[in-house]
Amino acid sequence: MAEYNKKTVEDVSVAGKRVLVRVDFNVPLDKERNITDDTRIVGALDTIRYLADHKARVILVSHLGRPKGGFEDKYSMKPAAQRLSELLGKPVALAADVIGPDAKAKAAALADGDVMLLENVRFHAEEEKNDPAFAKELASLAEIYVNDAFGTAHRAHASTEGVAKCLPAVCGFLIKKEIGVMGKALSDPKRPFVAILGGAKVSDKIAVIENLLDKCDCVIIGGGMAYTFLKAQGLGIGKSLCEDDKIGLAKGLIEKARAKSVRFILPKDVKVAREFSNDSEAKTVPADGIPDGWMGLDVGPGTMAEFADIIKGAGTVVWNGPLGVFEFPNFAEGTRFVAKALADSGAITIIGGGDSAAAVEQMGFADRMTHISTGGGAALEFLEGKTLPGIAALQNA
Ligand code: AMP
Repeated sequence: MAEYNKKTVEDVSVAGKRVLVRVDFNVPLDKERNITDDTRIVGALDTIRYLADHKARVILVSHLGRPKGGFEDKYSMKPAAQRLSELLGKPVALAADVIGPDAKAKAAALADGDVMLLENVRFHAEEEKNDPAFAKELASLAEIYVNDAFGTAHRAHASTEGVAKCLPAVCGFLIKKEIGVMGKALSDPKRPFVAILGGAKVSDKIAVIENLLDKCDCVIIGGGMAYTFLKAQGLGIGKSLCEDDKIGLAKGLIEKARAKSVRFILPKDVKVAREFSNDSEAKTVPADGIPDGWMGLDVGPGTMAEFADIIKGAGTVVWNGPLGVFEFPNFAEGTRFVAKALADSGAITIIGGGDSAAAVEQMGFADRMTHISTGGGAALEFLEGKTLPGIAALQNA
């Protein structure tokens, strides 16, 4: 399993040095290109402020959206530079390019404590190809590299992995927290250690379940993927989501849990609907009584009570994936109930990014969790025990 003990910005001398910082400013924008949620920019402020306060010359680099590999105005970092400038209360220069003459001139002109932002690093197709020459050019702008973009740490790109090979490379405070909290949960959790896994597909979560079965005391399954497990136990699931080709695997996971004495909890009642729609006719039925022609879209009250009971007694809880179709208000109750149970519990609570992070934020419980991961895919790969190349490339402490 990937355990990381990496040097941080506090372990290197940054005064007077040009420091290239990979941040995740991949913020959502509306049609007028206003930022609709600046959480990711706010998340990088600790590292940026620390560097500026310690007289570094800060050069930020990020991607935004999915440009096709050349300049596109709609993917410019301009809104992010403006928002960052407001948050820092000082100017943030935006380079017109990434490794071009403007970036070089603006980087050379930085004074101690200044902050600038490069244009979208994905305006170069070489970024996602982890092109060594491009990484070297990027590195030539600075003397130290800091990675604070957890959301892209699972990708070996030029600005995450390639550049870390060219400069002394350390992590920022955001990555430090991500690997600290999630790393501790996986290596030395406060017990009982409970994993709650939901979401649409078993296939997306198999590797996480496999890895967590070696570490957890209890695995709770909800969401669309629960029905493949229920079918694996011989129950009828009507029109519920099911991956028939994963039934064998689901059986295997249930057996593995039994062999390891890990409690494996499936819904005992579910809220079923006639159609995949918020306004569908709906009712609660026992998990072994799902009628033909109906589909399970949320967990039922008996299941919620059982989940809440387990959460109450937990020392650590990791949660990834909603327990029902939470986008439909009529089928969001299970997800809300679990979010509230986590908020009310004394356990270390870790939300593994993606839809469950969005749900916790939407429902107003965000500030009552120990940690909400800023990376969906990266958090999943971390929980799978995979090595994250953007972190592995940083210097060990
Ligand atoms: P994932 O990206 O795998 O975490 O899945 C999240 C998606 O799973 C959300 O869009 C939910 O609406 C969906 N989901 C959760 N429960 C169910 C269910 N019982 N049936 C269908 N989709 C579900």
